[in-house]
Amino acid sequence: MSQETTYEKALVLDSQDELAHYKDNFYRNTNQIYLDGNSLGLLSVQSEQALLTVLNEWKTLGIDGWLEASTPWFFLAEELAKQTAPLIGARADEVIVANSTTVNLHQLIATLFKPSGTRNKILSDELSFPSDVYALESQLNLKSLHADTHLVKVKSLNGFTLDEHLIVEAMTEEISMIVMPSVIYTSGQLLDMEYLTAEAHKRGILIGFDCSHSIGAVPHKLSDWNVDFAFWCNYKYLNSGPGSTGGLYLNQRHFGQSPGLAGWFSSKKDYQFTMSHTAQYAEGAGSLQIGTPNILSMAPLKGSLQLIAEAGIDRLRLKSLRLTAYLMELVESELTGYGFTIANPRENHRRGGHVSLIHDEAIRICKALRQQGVIPDYRYPNIIRLAPVALYTSFIDCYEAVKRLKQIMNDRIYESHEKERGLVP
Ligand SMILES: *Cc1c(COP(=O)(O)O)cnc(C)c1O
Repeated sequence: MSQETTYEKALVLDSQDELAHYKDNFYRNTNQIYLDGNSLGLLSVQSEQALLTVLNEWKTLGIDGWLEASTPWFFLAEELAKQTAPLIGARADEVIVANSTTVNLHQLIATLFKPSGTRNKILSDELSFPSDVYALESQLNLKSLHADTHLVKVKSLNGFTLDEHLIVEAMTEEISMIVMPSVIYTSGQLLDMEYLTAEAHKRGILIGFDCSHSIGAVPHKLSDWNVDFAFWCNYKYLNSGPGSTGGLYLNQRHFGQSPGLAGWFSSKKDYQFTMSHTAQYAEGAGSLQIGTPNILSMAPLKGSLQLIAEAGIDRLRLKSLRLTAYLMELVESELTGYGFTIANPRENHRRGGHVSLIHDEAIRICKALRQQGVIPDYRYPNIIRLAPVALYTSFIDCYEAVKRLKQIMNDRIYESHEKERGLVP
């Protein structure tokens, strides 16, 4: 009975979905339901074409591609930044596509972290992505400060989410800078960036966000909120391919400072090839580039950004919220009694693009799901992340995924899998 109603509901929701046809732009395996777009987004025809265009221009133009390619490679980072800016709510010159996610965090800390007197600590949280924590620790080390004493981590009371009021309580006079995720990668909690930024600024603290799990899924207004800096990866909801170049945002208030990690691509464009040993850095976020951009790892982003601009980030967010709401509804109606806990917050304004399920048998359940053609995302030790990406996931996909999951639980299919964690989830 309930199966039937949920199936019919999925059909209705799909028929009302004005973005449904976007999934035809993506390469998807027949019979497979891909719910791992928050780790690695799928390839679109548009991204493939954008990459093939660059390859072909390299073939025919050689070195001349730097200025003569259809989007000249010399300006590709700036061009992509212009197209990214609306997704995070910033001016074009406050954004640059460069480096990798982690390198961008290093660059921003190296540029903006200026410990002075007793205001010399960085505030983060115990749920942050490990790479970010390692980067913060090593940046502290470079200033002869120790993570044990100078990296303060806000605690999570339940192990999955953070309480914004506790974050504000931790904003003491010793804190110089705050780095936190926009969306927590495990639980999918969306933090209130506007509120945290206002509270940090009241106390004279700089604040920046890792937007890896929100860009392309959630709209941002970083400039309006006055956020100091942000960084993100382009291979999750932005579908630009494994290890594609990252992005960063620098509020215009911070323009004009020397980059902490400089290189010749930090230069003003018309100055770079004077080959002078005296640097003249770009005015805006472009100064945080370092060396020659990875053109082949940036090209797919051009196609992705076109597609997202066409679909519209507000419409994508609306569909994403409907998908995750429907998925949670299915989990609650079909999977009660099987030991799952939903770890993400329920309110729309507090969740990102994925649903997070906790289960003691998470690893074996994920293996069984893969075998049944559902690609989930496992996070050690007990987290199953399911990301129905608005561009290429339907409501029927959600229905079908939960149906297969229910069968795995009901028939205890997961018990035939090994408990060992793989090298890559
Ligand atoms: C995916 C992700 C990263 C990845 O960083 P890379 O430098 O691209 O490997 C960093 N932080 C968060 C929060 C992420 O989700």
